[in-house]
Order: sequence, then C-alpha cells, then structure tokens
Amino acid sequence: MLDDEGPSQSDVDRFGSETTTCPECREDVYEDAGVCPNCGHVFDPPTGPPTWAIWVAAFLATVIVVMWVLA
Ligand SMILES: [Zn+2]
Repeated sequence: MLDDEGPSQSDVDRFGSETTTCPECREDVYEDAGVCPNCGHVFDPPTGPPTWAIWVAAFLATVIVVMWVLA
C-alpha cells in the first residue's frame, strides 16, 4: 500500500460517506470525521438545519399552502 493514509475508493463506497480535503494538510478525510486524522485539524461543525428538517419544513409549508388554497 503506497497510500494508506487517506480513505481509499473502496472505503468511500463501503461507508457511503463524502470526503473533503483538509485545508491544513490537503489530505482527503471524511466530511463527518470532525477532526482530520492526519494533522488534527478540527473542521467547522455543520451549520444550518439537517437535510431532513428542511424537507419536513418544506412538506409542512406545502400542506399549509394547500389547506389555505382549499379553505
Ligand atoms: Zn489535515
């Protein structure tokens, strides 16, 4: 193994996780790792609501609009 530091493509497929490049050491790391395993750089926590919350809000907004229109 010449490159056993970063996640291999098979690892990415297995875990189904997105990778990002560490701004400090340019190493590919998992986005949800939180901390770079290579240099210890702490990634910023994700901002904003999670994706499911956005979909729930969109669904509720749609229901409200439909009820408003049908009322
Ligand atoms: Zn790093």
